[in-house]
Amino acid sequence: MLKQLDPTLERRRIIVQGIVQGVGFRPFVYSQAVRWGLAGFVLNDSRGVTIEVEGNLNALDGFERALREEAPPLARVDSVIAELLPSHGETDFVIIHSQGGSERRALISPDTSTCVDCLRELLDPADRRYRYPFINCTNCGPRFTIIQDVPYDRDKTTMRVFPMCPDCQREFDDPLNRRFHAQPNACPVCGPRLRFIDWTTGESNANPIALATQRLAAGAILAVKGLGGYHLACDGLNAEAVQRLRQRKHREAKPFALMVPDVEMAMQLCEVSSDEAALLQSHRRPIVLLKRRACCPVAPGVAPSHSTLGIMLPYTPLHYLLLHACVDVFKKDRPVALVMTSGNLSDEPIAYRDDDASDRLAAIADGALVHNRDIHSRCDDSVVQVTASGTQFLRRSRGNAPEPIPLELEFPMPLLACGAHLKNTFCLGKGRNAFISHHIGDLENLETLISFREGIEHFERLFDIYPEAIAYDLHPEYLATKYALDSDITWKIGVQHHHAHIASVMAEHGLTDPVIGVAADGTGYGTDGTVWGCEIMVADLLGFERLSHLAYVPLPGGEQAVRQPWRMGAVYLASVYGDAFLDLDIPFTRQLDKQMWRILSKMIAHGINCPQTSSLGRLFDAVAALLGLRGRALYEGQAAIELEMQAVGCSDHVASYSFVMEQGTRRLDVVPLIHDIVRDIQQSVPVPHIARRFHMTIAEMLAAACFEVQQQTGLKTVALSGGVFQNRLLLEQLVSRMEEMAFQVYTNRRVPPNDGGISLGQAAVAAARLQRG
Ligand SMILES: [Zn+2]
Ligand SMILES: [Zn+2]
Repeated sequence: MLKQLDPTLERRRIIVQGIVQGVGFRPFVYSQAVRWGLAGFVLNDSRGVTIEVEGNLNALDGFERALREEAPPLARVDSVIAELLPSHGETDFVIIHSQGGSERRALISPDTSTCVDCLRELLDPADRRYRYPFINCTNCGPRFTIIQDVPYDRDKTTMRVFPMCPDCQREFDDPLNRRFHAQPNACPVCGPRLRFIDWTTGESNANPIALATQRLAAGAILAVKGLGGYHLACDGLNAEAVQRLRQRKHREAKPFALMVPDVEMAMQLCEVSSDEAALLQSHRRPIVLLKRRACCPVAPGVAPSHSTLGIMLPYTPLHYLLLHACVDVFKKDRPVALVMTSGNLSDEPIAYRDDDASDRLAAIADGALVHNRDIHSRCDDSVVQVTASGTQFLRRSRGNAPEPIPLELEFPMPLLACGAHLKNTFCLGKGRNAFISHHIGDLENLETLISFREGIEHFERLFDIYPEAIAYDLHPEYLATKYALDSDITWKIGVQHHHAHIASVMAEHGLTDPVIGVAADGTGYGTDGTVWGCEIMVADLLGFERLSHLAYVPLPGGEQAVRQPWRMGAVYLASVYGDAFLDLDIPFTRQLDKQMWRILSKMIAHGINCPQTSSLGRLFDAVAALLGLRGRALYEGQAAIELEMQAVGCSDHVASYSFVMEQGTRRLDVVPLIHDIVRDIQQSVPVPHIARRFHMTIAEMLAAACFEVQQQTGLKTVALSGGVFQNRLLLEQLVSRMEEMAFQVYTNRRVPPNDGGISLGQAAVAAARLQRG
């Protein structure tokens, strides 16, 4: 009764910012207030969540700590700011319902894998959602992919066509229920339904999971509707089915991802470190690249020439039901691993609309496991790998997008960065948040371009960001660049490709002082009009100076040379031996199409469609071709990946080959390296040994170039980015070499080092330039 007089009593107003709406944060606050015996209220507003609480000091401290440390799984607490108020002598704690429109600026959570509570209910025969493939709650389920507009409530999602039954509504309205305000809440009475359609007979079936499982066991290929699009599924141990899928999908070599029932199964197939296990089981559920075990029975056609497999765990209730059924139905004592690859024909975007899926996938799949909850936004699976310097994204999409990346820099005005050509993402920046899109893909066809345009409009609406500035790549032919130049936004800012790569690392780590940037990739438009790809620069966010680079060689036929690594092999041999290379007695020259080479050498001599390039990706291609690994590549980077796989297979302790850094120009000349490799080939040194020495040499060469730049500038901080750094072995060797030399090394941790991270770098550079006026 004399509460106000108690000196240990206090009232605080606490503002929590981050992803705190639509993720069960208010019920969480409520339960914590009850736990700590506090009175007051909680409400959502445009800033996030505002709480006023009063009670005893220790309890208030415990409550605040819990807000930071025990927040619900989908929440992301960016800040908790408290101020002192006079005590009111309140005794109850209440949830105050928010005012309309205030949630517009709230952050939208990414789609999230089924939580443990929902999984328990899914498998509990006594639960009213037993085996219901669309079970979800505030802690899990679809979000971004079903949201059509803001504010985020059911009417603005693809769930609006399913009115809740009284039971679901009761859960939805109860602040102590796990489904309080869970917009996609549903049950077998009122929610979406699953069907199996046999595309050969057109029949649909009443027991979809059982039928789908039988068909998979018999070797069928099925389309399975997921969160962000359709997958194509088949038994990953059935070599014939895998091969049939490759033929029908016109995908000859790129690895397929696998879905396995649980982490134990992943460990049976692959080596799984504790970090990798945590990633597999995280609620974001990415595909994790794992080292395949020698005894792994997965069909070789799943990932030809790869020593790794891309594995993910089930992330929707439908996946759980399907994988569990496979465990029961497939032959005993054999692992269960389903191929789960994007539902598309090679190079097209993933299918996500039902009519489109049946048009495009019926020729590939024998049947389909489908449902009537529409997907509004296409969203491919994310892909990650664990490297010596931490987790690295290869694709940041489902489970991560559209969660913004908080930056230390501030956008002086709302802006849009259009990204690059391959693996495109775009980025909208506002305040201190960078909203990087889901994976759009290679902007090479109309459908992807439409996805890009629609994606931008959707993000603008969702996050209330209407750009006043637009950043783009300097390559005049990129569709994303043309989009920027055609737009009616006044401020247009061109950003060099490799500068954007380095800026993406700087933005992620909040680096503002100049750094030494090492950008290594396949292709990027240089300021001199050539094709860059191995650039050592001094950069800050405003600009860069290129201080060193791989010596230029011709790229005969441009894009053709990317598809045909043998061309680069011949170019590098010619750069060492001139035309006399044709007389070298090594398998590469014996097998060379000499007539074709004569045509190419004429093109080179006359400068016809032979841009100069300093691309490190192409040097990897050349060496892979010289070693007889791959003369023709079925996708960009295939030869380089195979070279890495060979090198990983060698445990010899190797020294570096020779290379030259020209005095003055600091051009990195690899003539001696090619010379050494040819000698080793002639002496029948095993390919894995040569591949490993080559990796070591590149690491040594890049480290030496950085050392030179450091001698001149005194800089000790290095940022590494570009697609070449997806090569785990090279990254590991380079980082360890640089750390021995006392450099502080930064790499991409939150966006991919490949072109999927370019949009963030462009946004950061544009922000810095706008800030300076
Ligand atoms: Zn749940
Ligand atoms: Zn219901």
